[in-house]
Amino acid sequence: MHAATLQCGMPFNPDYLESTDTALDARLSAIDIAAYSKTRNHLNGRVTQLSPYITHGFISIPELFDRLPELNLADKLAFEFGWREFFHHVWSREGDSILSDMRPGLPGVRYADQLPDDIREGRTGLVPIDRAVHQLYATGYLHNHARMWLASYVVHLRKVHWRVGADWMYAHLLDGDLASNHLSWQWVAATFSSKPYLFNAENVARYAPADWHCAGSVLDTSYEQLDQIARSDQTITFSSSLLGMAEPELLSKPPALPAVKIARADRVRLVHPWMLIDESFEGLRIGVIHPPFHARFRWSARRWRFVLQRMTAITDTLFVGDLDQLKDMLSEIPHVESIATLNPGYQALLPILCTQLADTPRHFANPAKTCRSFSAFWSQCGGNDQQRGWHQ
Ligand SMILES: Cc1cc2nc3c(=O)[nH]c(=O)nc-3n(C[C@H](O)[C@H](O)[C@H](O)COP(=O)(O)OP(=O)(O)OC[C@H]3O[C@@H](n4cnc5c(N)ncnc54)[C@H](O)[C@@H]3O)c2cc1C
Repeated sequence: MHAATLQCGMPFNPDYLESTDTALDARLSAIDIAAYSKTRNHLNGRVTQLSPYITHGFISIPELFDRLPELNLADKLAFEFGWREFFHHVWSREGDSILSDMRPGLPGVRYADQLPDDIREGRTGLVPIDRAVHQLYATGYLHNHARMWLASYVVHLRKVHWRVGADWMYAHLLDGDLASNHLSWQWVAATFSSKPYLFNAENVARYAPADWHCAGSVLDTSYEQLDQIARSDQTITFSSSLLGMAEPELLSKPPALPAVKIARADRVRLVHPWMLIDESFEGLRIGVIHPPFHARFRWSARRWRFVLQRMTAITDTLFVGDLDQLKDMLSEIPHVESIATLNPGYQALLPILCTQLADTPRHFANPAKTCRSFSAFWSQCGGNDQQRGWHQ
C-alpha cells in the first residue's frame, strides 16, 4: 500500500489501521530511538504510532523493552512509556475516580456539559482545531500535541467540561485508554496538575506543518492573555461558514455477531479487548465483549473493526454478552485463564470467572501509594525528571 496524504496534510500510512502483527512489526522496525528523542514533539516527527497496539495488548511495555534492547531510561521513548505506566498506576490505585476531578480545578469557572456542534464537526474556523478533528475522525489517531491543543481549546477557550471532551475523544481514538486519555484531559484542565495547559499560535507554528498554522487568529496572543481567559468565564466563539465533517457514528455494541455455543474444553482462555496478544494456547480461546462497558464508553465503527478483526483472528469463538452469563457455562471447566484489566465491568467479573488471572504486564513499579505527579512516580522508578516538559 502507498502512503496517503490526508486533507490535514499529515503523512499517513493506511497500513496503520491493520490490526495485525505484520502492521505492528512494521511500526517496530521503523523505530529510531535517537530520532524519536529529537523530533517527537513535531506533528511530522518520528513518533511510533504504537498506541493502538499497546492499548489493545498486542504488545506490552515490558515486551517493548525486550524488543528494543538498546532502549534505556535516559531515552525519551522510555520516558513516554513511563507516562503510560504512570497513568495506569494512578488508575490501579484510584479506580473509577479518575473519571472525576482528581483535585479542584480553576476556581469560579463554569463549564458546559455539551460539546458545541462546530467543534464536533471540525468547523470552528481555527485551523489547528479543525484539522485535528478531521484527522481524528479520518484515522482514529492524533499526535500528542494535536490532542493537547484540542483539549486545551475545548476546556479553556470554549469552557466545555473536560469530561465531555475526554469521552468524545476517547470514543474516536483507536488507542482510547481511560487512564491515558481522561487523566491527560485532567492534566490539561488543571484538575490533575497545578496549572492549565495553554498553547498559542507560536507553539503551533513551532511543531506543526505550515498548513496547520494560525497566525492572526485569536490564538496569536500571549500566554498571559490566554491564562486570563482560562481563569474567567469568557468563551471564545467564531462565526465560521466552513463546511464541517459529520461525526462518525458511535456504537455501544459491536455489529451483530452470531450466537455462540461454547464447546466442551478443559482449558479456556478468555481474550478481552485489551489483551489481543497472539499467543499459543492449548485449549479453547474465547473472545469476550461485555456490553455494559461499551454502553458506557462507546467506540467508533473503525475501532470496533480494529478490535474484532484481531479478536476473531486469535480466538476460536466470540462471546458477546454480560460476562456474568458465562459463570454457569465455565463453572465445570478446571482451567480458565485471562489477563487482568482495569476497564470497568471486565475488571470485576474476570476474577470471578477465571481460575488463573495474570496481572496486567508492567515494566515500571506500581507503588503502593498513589503518586500524584509523574515526577514522583518516575523518581521511584529510577529515572530522573530532567526530561519533564513532556508537553512542550
Ligand atoms: C488529551 C490527550 C488524550 C490522550 N489520550 C490517549 C489515549 O486515549 N490513549 C493513549 O494511549 N494515549 C493518549 N494520550 C497520550 C499520547 O498522546 C499518546 O499516547 C500518543 O500520542 C500516541 O501516539 P504514538 O504511539 O505515536 O506515541 P509515541 O510518541 O510514539 O509514544 C510511544 C508510546 O508511549 C506512550 N505515550 C507517549 N506519550 C504519552 C503520554 N503523553 N501519555 C501516556 N502515554 C504516552 C504511548 O503508549 C505511545 O504509544 C493522550 C494525550 C493527551 C494530551
